[in-house]
Amino acid sequence: MSVSRGRKVLATPGPTILPDEVLAAMHRQPIDLYGSAMEEITQSCLADLKSVFGTQGSIYIYITNGHGAWEAALTNILSRGDRVLALESGLFATAWADLARALGIEVELLPGDPRRAVDPAALEERLRADREHRIKAILVVQVDTASSVVNDIPAIRAAIDKAGHPALFLVDAIASLATMPFMMDAWRIDVALGAAQKGLMLPPGIAFVAAGPRAKQARQAAGLATRFWDWVFRDGEENYMKHCGTAPEHLIFGLRAALDLLAEEGPAATFRRHQLLADAVREAVSAWSKDGSVEFNIIAPSQRSNAVTTILTNGFDPLELQQWCEAVCGVSLGTGIGSFSGKGFRIAHMGHVNAPSILGVLGAVEAGLTALRIGKASGGVSAASALLGRSIGRG
Ligand SMILES: *Cc1c(COP(=O)(O)O)cnc(C)c1O
Repeated sequence: MSVSRGRKVLATPGPTILPDEVLAAMHRQPIDLYGSAMEEITQSCLADLKSVFGTQGSIYIYITNGHGAWEAALTNILSRGDRVLALESGLFATAWADLARALGIEVELLPGDPRRAVDPAALEERLRADREHRIKAILVVQVDTASSVVNDIPAIRAAIDKAGHPALFLVDAIASLATMPFMMDAWRIDVALGAAQKGLMLPPGIAFVAAGPRAKQARQAAGLATRFWDWVFRDGEENYMKHCGTAPEHLIFGLRAALDLLAEEGPAATFRRHQLLADAVREAVSAWSKDGSVEFNIIAPSQRSNAVTTILTNGFDPLELQQWCEAVCGVSLGTGIGSFSGKGFRIAHMGHVNAPSILGVLGAVEAGLTALRIGKASGGVSAASALLGRSIGRG
């Protein structure tokens, strides 16, 4: 028996649910790649992306995914043998570090814990010890999508400043952009990264790199630069150079629609919506945690992100629950990845999400826990809706 007919709900932390406006904007014929319409729409997207990133710097749109953005960022500022320090806090910073190593970059990990945020004091201490300033760049993620931790980027910036270290500061905001504040210039970030398929509500296929003045300066000595990723080529006169070839036209049409949706809601309301829906998820997980069958991966409540929640399963196989939710309810949960494989699952609450989509996901999980006789899970959904009612009041 199944109750899954009707619109399916995707609760994976990328790709995420697409707004109908984005789908509709993409449902059209291509246009002349060299024409003024293509140039105008590209320029308008670049201008709006600057405000999404909070920067006056340059924005580059790449036909790629998050991994490509990682490579674009590194190759434009570094040379073989340069040293970087990656701040471990889950799978993504270490995967970025592995990619750097494969490029011939010397990588050092600042050891972290998959259940906690990066410790700024440990970073400050490490940087103080680097008296010769051998570390050329620092790599960190704002939200690690595997562990669901949110790192405190301003506190990490302050630690770099306290140590008086000149390293370039690179922040992966792929999972966090448009779900919580991000202020590239105010936080003096040199390179910031985003991708289409998370909070930006687009299909996978494009990713964004924002570069500040110090990063553009570093490009001049970067031995790893190659044509496709190269900021210098992409800064060229002709519009096609911005994409190093044919523009990903339909993704740009979709991007225009997604940026319009974000502008219409306004950043404060977008962030508040994510906060409230994340709080609702956390209420439900707290209720389910009472008998110990599940628990939050991130121990400190202040370090839990508003984009995704990783839930550890104690004594049962998360895949069974995921399969039940998918087959019976039409809800796709995020699978546990990296060290969480077989040990937990994830609920994404990023992008085009609202109360019915999130409460529906929570309801499916609670039904699944009941059906599979896992613990004594109950009361999660009512706790989540009560929280929304209490917090929002008359609206
Ligand atoms: C999804 C994600 C990536 C990787 O993106 P892909 O598109 O899968 O290459 C990198 N960093 C973070 C924080 C992510 O959430």
